[in-house]
Amino acid sequence: MRHIAIIGSGPAGYYTAEAAQKQFGEDVRVDIFDKLPVPYGLIRTGVAPDHQSIKGVARRYEKTALTDNVRFVGNVAVGKDVSVAELQELYDAVVLATGAPCDRDLGIPGENLDNVFGSAAFVGWYNGHPQFADLDPDLSGGTAVVIGMGNVALDVARLLAKKDCEFDGSDIVSHALEALCASKIERVILLGRRGPHQIMMTPKELGELGQLENAAPHVDKADLPDPEEDAFLEPGLRKSVAVLREFAATPEHIRAEKRIALEFAFMVRPKALIGEGKVTGIEVERTELVKGRAVGTGEFRRFPADLVVSCIGYRTLPIPGVPFDERAGRFANDEGRILPGLYCVGWARRGPSGTIGTNKPDGFGVVDKIVEDIAGGTLGRGGKQGREGFDALAAEKGLEVVTFRDWKKIEEAEAKAAREGAPREKFVDIEAMIRAAG
Ligand code: NAP
Repeated sequence: MRHIAIIGSGPAGYYTAEAAQKQFGEDVRVDIFDKLPVPYGLIRTGVAPDHQSIKGVARRYEKTALTDNVRFVGNVAVGKDVSVAELQELYDAVVLATGAPCDRDLGIPGENLDNVFGSAAFVGWYNGHPQFADLDPDLSGGTAVVIGMGNVALDVARLLAKKDCEFDGSDIVSHALEALCASKIERVILLGRRGPHQIMMTPKELGELGQLENAAPHVDKADLPDPEEDAFLEPGLRKSVAVLREFAATPEHIRAEKRIALEFAFMVRPKALIGEGKVTGIEVERTELVKGRAVGTGEFRRFPADLVVSCIGYRTLPIPGVPFDERAGRFANDEGRILPGLYCVGWARRGPSGTIGTNKPDGFGVVDKIVEDIAGGTLGRGGKQGREGFDALAAEKGLEVVTFRDWKKIEEAEAKAAREGAPREKFVDIEAMIRAAG
């Protein structure tokens, strides 16, 4: 029997568990740990609440979770309640699937002003992550600046621009729905330090900005490169640029019918956030591309900004005793191997890139490494205590473990509390989750 501990119950964690089951069959026991009492990581707290079809993948993870050889161990923070070294004593392999939950800093003056948030915090707020449920952003100003030209920037801009009825069927938490419905924002500026040919936005998600009831995207034709140059782009990016061209071609009188303007500002990099106490503006420097990189030109301008959300990527949270690559912001690893018996997978391995589905080959890949290491003798001969050993340790430490069955009770309570047409009303604090678990 082989015992595997997976830390993190998001997509990377569950795909790894599925791969381990396929590989070892009945000869494996997998424990999936999460510091929250609820599973699914980014599916629950990262994927936009109005993208319910993407969240449907959780049904696949549930299938894995309900098998006898896989167990959910919720409400246990590895690195705090239990150390990686303790788990390594008990399990043949420990796989860190902890994602990249921390915001990257902009590294510019004014970053600590009020109403300036990283996307992990802001997305966590509208998705009901217990750590960010109290963020309470002030949406009473007229202008929001969203920094970055990736899909997270699109999620944030879209949610800031939606009308109440456009949240029907979503699982946005009530505190965020109320705040967004009362929002006074009429201008959302998306800032990109490079040009339209360097955006990270995917075409379908970008196209959604053109379908909003209350808001219209504004792209200046003059910012778009010569259309002939699009031919050299990779097909997905070419489609996204075609969407930008459609936005640019929309007549002004049609855009003017919408209350909220979603403005694309290309080739500007943030230099400073301005304000006393609370942010009121952002200073940017015009850039030019040098070998694909944004280089400052020394030409500056300012935009008003009553709210700033920086969507520039994420970092993995280091765990004491686990080698960390500071520059890359993830665990130091060689194709998923960190140390003998210690692995990482998903964003914790490769950084915050790709779709949910990218984690599937990642999960299968790390299990291949475990198989190679068993064959090579690096993982010893087995005989570790696995879950029985962990249960004894948890009892000794007095940990309040939340099981998958407990989670199903939380899930049921959330479904019962849902607004009409919504799939759930999430609990946003850990105590309430644990109470619902009984
Ligand atoms: P991303 O795709 O890497 O985009 C980050 C953006 O931030 C880029 O435009 C980048 O510009 C910019 N940026 C980075 N550092 C900056 C700085 N210091 N100043 C100004 N701009 C800066 O990251 P993401 O949007 O966080 O998304 C993470 C992953 O999740 C992506 O793979 C994304 O596709 C995925 N995701 C998918 C969906 C979906 O499919 N619906 C939704 C959300 C997220 P440069 O290119 O110049 O570096």
